[in-house]
Amino acid sequence: MLPIHAQHMTDAHLRDRFHRRSLDQQRPLSTITMASTVVAALLFVLARSLVAGPTISISYRLACVAMLALLVAGVRKARTTGIFGALGVGFTLVLVILIALNVNGLNEPLLWALPALLVIPICAAPLWLTPTHFFAGTVVFYASGLPLLFRQGYTHDVNVVTLLWVAIGVPTASVFHFGFYWFRRDHFLLENRLAELAATDPLTGLQNRRSFMEQAERRLSTLAEGVKVCAIFVDIDYFKSLNDQFGHAAGDQTLYEVAQVLMDQTIAQDSVSRIGGEEFAILRREGLASALELAERLRGAVSRIARPDGYVTASFGVAEHRTGESIMALLDRADEALLRAKQSGRNRVCAERSSPFDPLQLLFAGDPADPSGSARPRWEDYYLTSHFQPLYSLSHQKQVGFEALLRGEQSDGSLVPPAVLFAPRPLSDEGELDRASHVVHLGNAQRLIPDEAWIFLNILPATFVADGYADQLAAIVRSAALEPEKIVLEILESHGGSVDEMSRAAARYRQHGFLIAVDDFGAGQSNLDRLFRIRPDFVKLDGELIRATIPDTQHSILPKLVSLLHQAGMLVVVEGVETTEELILAVESNVDFAQGYLLGRPAARIAPPDAVNRMIDRSFDVIAQGRAHLHALFENKVEPYRFALRSAADALLSGIAMEDAFADLSQQDLCISCFILDDRGRQIGPEVAGVASTSLAGTLQPVSDPRDARWDHRPYFRNAVLLPGVPVASNPYLSLASGRPCVAVTVAIQSPQMRSVVGTELDWSAPHLPWPASE
Ligand code: GH3
Ligand code: MG
Ligand code: MG
Repeated sequence: MLPIHAQHMTDAHLRDRFHRRSLDQQRPLSTITMASTVVAALLFVLARSLVAGPTISISYRLACVAMLALLVAGVRKARTTGIFGALGVGFTLVLVILIALNVNGLNEPLLWALPALLVIPICAAPLWLTPTHFFAGTVVFYASGLPLLFRQGYTHDVNVVTLLWVAIGVPTASVFHFGFYWFRRDHFLLENRLAELAATDPLTGLQNRRSFMEQAERRLSTLAEGVKVCAIFVDIDYFKSLNDQFGHAAGDQTLYEVAQVLMDQTIAQDSVSRIGGEEFAILRREGLASALELAERLRGAVSRIARPDGYVTASFGVAEHRTGESIMALLDRADEALLRAKQSGRNRVCAERSSPFDPLQLLFAGDPADPSGSARPRWEDYYLTSHFQPLYSLSHQKQVGFEALLRGEQSDGSLVPPAVLFAPRPLSDEGELDRASHVVHLGNAQRLIPDEAWIFLNILPATFVADGYADQLAAIVRSAALEPEKIVLEILESHGGSVDEMSRAAARYRQHGFLIAVDDFGAGQSNLDRLFRIRPDFVKLDGELIRATIPDTQHSILPKLVSLLHQAGMLVVVEGVETTEELILAVESNVDFAQGYLLGRPAARIAPPDAVNRMIDRSFDVIAQGRAHLHALFENKVEPYRFALRSAADALLSGIAMEDAFADLSQQDLCISCFILDDRGRQIGPEVAGVASTSLAGTLQPVSDPRDARWDHRPYFRNAVLLPGVPVASNPYLSLASGRPCVAVTVAIQSPQMRSVVGTELDWSAPHLPWPASE
């Protein structure tokens, strides 16, 4: 930041700049004058050799000339005022020595030296950069000339003339030196003041736009690698109304006060500028997180500035510089964030849309203010955090895994509704949030999730099939000190990625050791083909499936579905278990894992599982009792038919005709038909219709005649053959003949001629009839 007011020369920084400027300006001038002096000294040496008398060897004097030439060459290289001054002092010293050597042996040496003693200080005067240099140089020059003055044999006149020369030389040199010095100094201060004025906004004293842009462009182009820079764009809210209601002076006063706040809260290395009417910009050498903190601080400080009708507020947009980006592009992104801050209600800070994604940085971006050390990185206008919901193994009655769910928090810790967090945004890539969520979850899971539990991560199909993501995710997992074997990827139920792509991608993730789940089976896109092609390790059933029943019956479809999935080698998780009845149904249906509000809500911390373990245990008890009860009910209902069938079989064995043998049985309420099968399950003769058959007229006509059909594949045939002579009842099954749920009671008998199975089919479609527990 440039100084606001022109400082006095006592300011070390300013003086230093002045000296450096003087050095640059005087270097050529000094070189020329000193070089001319070297030529004059050489001529002086030559002139001496024309005069007779004893002399000092010429080589000493020429050595002095060479030394002078070297010192002149050194002027070009002098980088500091100190070196420059030392060169000047050295130059005058060598010059005086040369004069002394040259005049040695002459009768009136001082007369020879006098012109030089006058001319040299005057010529050197403008060369001294500072008064200090001037005094030091002049004193050294005359002091080294003193021996000449006090030599023996000089007349009184010469001494007087010397003093006269010196009396003329010193003031002339002083006037020359100080004249030059003051001229340069005033020129420098004026130039400095003009530059300041050109760079400063007169109302607030901040940098103006032009100067800010120039400085920012310079700073960005010389940025060292790895150094972060952020731009903060500030716009005062409802500023026009302040002007309109209370006058321009009030507006100006507010602008000044806001500028003061910005100055007070920033450090000297920050560039702070009034970039337009009531807009300010700050460039700061820091990453996004701390720039956002600063913006938040500034917002708080601005909101304490009073205006006649309340308090001033301002909106802030913050963006982090990307490598190679110009200041214009950076400000555009900060401006875009500012626009969102305005649109979402003003008096707030918004970050740039989607910051470049750096997983490792996110992973360890624990919030120092949060004692749990949770990873809580900033995402657009929120902080991202993880909530974990437990999954229980029903048989083991314990927590075996946790599904990580993404939550957005405002800076005050309140949660952002998922609808807002996951709302489609026109400019940002949905996948980016998805990938960021994995990093956040893994960072948090590493701290919170017990070692032996699985971590379930939701993943969008588009992210799942994205090139290289399997490798990237595996790397992130390892850098969070976790193993891919612990991670279950839940492929979400949404568009993106064909089934082919998904099954190829699944193979890539499996190579790394990841486990795979298909989420929300039973909703949206799910179908069995997709399931069997992806071949997940887990299938998560949509919560609605628990509540789904077979139409017109009370029977859940869950048990059958679970058994189908088990046969395909997939473990089954039900989600959305909310009531004890649903938990019991899940246990009864042989589901492997369950998840839902009843067992544990998603939370930032892991709840102890004890109460849930007891609840699952009780469900097992309830089911065991229910099974026994149902079994008793079923047996009760079937018992009369077993008895009647036994009698019919005895009658048949004793040679009574079919019609008569089945007369009793066929008159019982539920009896649809009575039949005899040979030892290969093929029906012998016609069947005898029972009383319940009258309600079936016309159904499934093409298959309604059972003659010559084979039934040895039916459990009721096989079970009867296994226990000859004992009437056995089947579980309810769908009868092809009636198209309804039926129960068959069968018994295997052995007549002298052949072995056969005698049976009856009972109509089990009425809702009040007890069904035995499955499997
Ligand atoms: P918003 O909350 O959307 O930012 O509304 P606003 O009224 O603050 O914004 P707008 O851009 O509509 O108004 C900015 C006003 O700032 C208009 C202009 O008259 C005023 N202004 C610009 N420069 C100065 C100045 O130097 N002094 C004063 N007093 N007012 C200024
Ligand atoms: Mg504006
Ligand atoms: Mg405004």
